[in-house]
Amino acid sequence: MLVLVRVQSRALFFGPYFAVNNFMKLFGLILLTMGLVPIASCQSTQKNMKSESYPIVKSESEWKSELTPEQFRVLRQKGTEYPGSGAYDQHFKPGHYTCAGCGAKLFVSDRKFDAHCGWPSFDAQSTDSNVIEHVDYSHGMIRTEILCKQCGGHLGHVFNDGPTETGLRYCVNSASLNFSESQK
Ligand SMILES: [Zn+2]
Repeated sequence: MLVLVRVQSRALFFGPYFAVNNFMKLFGLILLTMGLVPIASCQSTQKNMKSESYPIVKSESEWKSELTPEQFRVLRQKGTEYPGSGAYDQHFKPGHYTCAGCGAKLFVSDRKFDAHCGWPSFDAQSTDSNVIEHVDYSHGMIRTEILCKQCGGHLGHVFNDGPTETGLRYCVNSASLNFSESQK
């Protein structure tokens, strides 16, 4: 009886039965699409990552033996360090930042700024162009992942909300970086 009342109230709300039926079909289709799109996106991202080749290739055990556990988690497993916890968040000495995985030059201190987000932020990569971009569909968002061109190490993400003339904010994990201070 209760079910009948519910069905009738739905029919009253949505109109004739065929309209309810079509609505339910459409709703089902939307749910199916919402479920399938992220899966398809993840699959294509994983495919891209696997097919991507980098000049520096090492096995997982080699990376583990060379990196700290935190560097391995961030660089090789696309982890993110806790905001404000990294060594270079509030670090503004003159010099340049290299990939903690392979030593490739990535950023210079002149382009570093405090984005108050808890991660080292730059408005441009270094002229060496060792930072490459991939579309990242993880965690229900569409972001642009940044990686080291030489070893494929995960660095962070780049956003279009930078405060300077470039309009870019390279948001980088400290764990992905090493720093070389300029000699005056
Ligand atoms: Zn690298």
